[in-house]
Amino acid sequence: MPIRPQSLLFEITARCNLNCLYCYNVWKDDCGYPCGDCSAELDTASIKRLLAKAVRESGVSQVTITGGEPFLHDDLVEIIGYLAKMGLAVGLIANGTAGGERMYRDAVKAGAGIVEIPLLSSERAIHNAMTRGTAFDLATERLVDVKSAGGRTCAVIVLTKMNMHDVRETIAMAAVLGADSVMINRFNVGGEGRRHVDELLPSPAELTAALLEAEAAAEEWQMPIFSSVPVQPCLVDLSQFKRMRFGTCPACTDKGYYTIDPLGNLRPCNHSPTILGNLFESDFQALAGNVAAAAYRAARPAFCSDCAIVDDCQGGCKAAAEACGGCVGGEEPFLARNKESVRKKREQGHKLGLGLEAWGRSKRHTAGRPAESNVHYVHSVHSVQSARRSEGAPRMGGVKRHDKDSCCNPDHRRYRGGRNVHHPPPNDHR
Ligand code: SF4
Ligand code: SF4
Repeated sequence: MPIRPQSLLFEITARCNLNCLYCYNVWKDDCGYPCGDCSAELDTASIKRLLAKAVRESGVSQVTITGGEPFLHDDLVEIIGYLAKMGLAVGLIANGTAGGERMYRDAVKAGAGIVEIPLLSSERAIHNAMTRGTAFDLATERLVDVKSAGGRTCAVIVLTKMNMHDVRETIAMAAVLGADSVMINRFNVGGEGRRHVDELLPSPAELTAALLEAEAAAEEWQMPIFSSVPVQPCLVDLSQFKRMRFGTCPACTDKGYYTIDPLGNLRPCNHSPTILGNLFESDFQALAGNVAAAAYRAARPAFCSDCAIVDDCQGGCKAAAEACGGCVGGEEPFLARNKESVRKKREQGHKLGLGLEAWGRSKRHTAGRPAESNVHYVHSVHSVQSARRSEGAPRMGGVKRHDKDSCCNPDHRRYRGGRNVHHPPPNDHR
């Protein structure tokens, strides 16, 4: 049966003008991801050929362009126009600081439907500290520019220890800036973010408090609000949330957002370093249906094996488990760090997984979200966690690496053995 996802994500460039603390770009690690020094890119004719082929073979109706920072690519507007002329909905994920007002206007005019831009805090100093730049003023200006050019915006909050106190004010600011929706994602560890887990990753109690503030603000401002990165219901009681919608992992299903990197490699999602194969060499359907994709789909942490809702929850984010522990079926940091509380609750006979009705409302990332916006906020991304990493490799951000040879799931061992096979595009595609 062919896999028919709604959308694809295209990382047009690995280059970025910022170096955000929370960035999950897969090449932001010393993992050997095949983007070289991040300057390796396809020429524009090859990009068009690649995207036309991917769209034809997958049957998607939407392509979201991200990076790196997409506005660093000279031909971004031309490529947006090319996709729009194919009748596709085109989304953009950008940091707001590359490309000026004119380029944003041109992007909207060319066909960019919804533009996702981070608004990390209402406090300039916090937004700038999280992005390690002076991004706040430009990001807020671009949110306004897109609206005044007739486009739609999604303000993205990456929820961390640094900005969780300010969520309510940040959503109010998004409303004042005219944002059409807010995506509030808990910090999902990967890439550069792996180096900052202790300073960024909130506890379940902190996350709950911030999400409740977000829900109150969304109610106050009548703002559509989504939490796309999975929040495990054994860690946060989702029954408290009447308005907010929560996502679960759609990777490698027809609800997923398969991601194409700057060289044409296809991955399960933008957070995952796993390469399913290269689209210049193989058909989309062959890659989406291959053994690595099936293993990705089936992966669950051993800790969750006797949980009644494991097939829906799937233990949270597989890519974060993969980026931090080397195994897609391992425990992602938010679960690994807090699972003792779950174990205790289990021992005490507590009912786990409260709030599934709230969760079920949005079963998958895409449900209830703006049509063109169905990706986790990205824009910093992960790291490739090389399967080759040796046992006992250094801990990063307090997250212990997974030992692939004693992996909890025998399928993962098989899978890991064959993963991340790099299929470089032919020379004429470079
Ligand atoms: S599947 Fe795992 S993470 Fe999800 S609710 Fe159950 S125990 Fe928690
Ligand atoms: S692996 Fe994580 S980032 Fe990727 S689709 Fe699943 S939940 Fe989202």
